[in-house]
Amino acid sequence: MSSLLEQLIEAFRILPGVGQKTAQRMAYHVLEREREGGRRLASVLSEAVERVGHCARCRDFSETEVCATCASAVRDAHQLCVVESAADRLAIEQATGYRGLYFVLQGRLSPLDGIGPREIGLDRLSDRLQEGQVQELIIATNPTVEGEATAHYLAQLSRQHGARPSRLAHGVPLGGELEYVDRGTLSHAFGSRSEMV
Ligand SMILES: [Zn+2]
Repeated sequence: MSSLLEQLIEAFRILPGVGQKTAQRMAYHVLEREREGGRRLASVLSEAVERVGHCARCRDFSETEVCATCASAVRDAHQLCVVESAADRLAIEQATGYRGLYFVLQGRLSPLDGIGPREIGLDRLSDRLQEGQVQELIIATNPTVEGEATAHYLAQLSRQHGARPSRLAHGVPLGGELEYVDRGTLSHAFGSRSEMV
């Protein structure tokens, strides 16, 4: 069994972009100077992992069964914006004045990895479209090969249910992720979206 210090370093390595060196620095930092912050981190991390689930309507992260956005009476239920991740949803929310609702795939179609329509919640999205309220499905998947394939699938699904599919304008760099695109570019791409034909 390794020492607690070694276990702590190993535990930090689960974070994206954190290798051995950075993990060591983090562990020493907490023990040398930040024990109180370390306690807070441990407690909020453990609580979040236990209590943050997914919204039953949009699949975004939520502590409640239906998230605040889906439960809001002022959002426009005629527009539904589909994104790959919660981070993309937040990027759009912060960059644009969009007042419609969202659907978070928590992934993208990737048949080679065994990720099909069901894995990204498209059965639920289909039910959602079936309710008949959505008039425009704004498809904001990333401009990657898999994101584009997912977009075409979504457009087809949208038309089957009588909703108009639209896609963000070019400007978001090809192969890029929405999350990392600057606000101005994202806002412009979102505002000048066009119908998918
Ligand atoms: Zn929701």
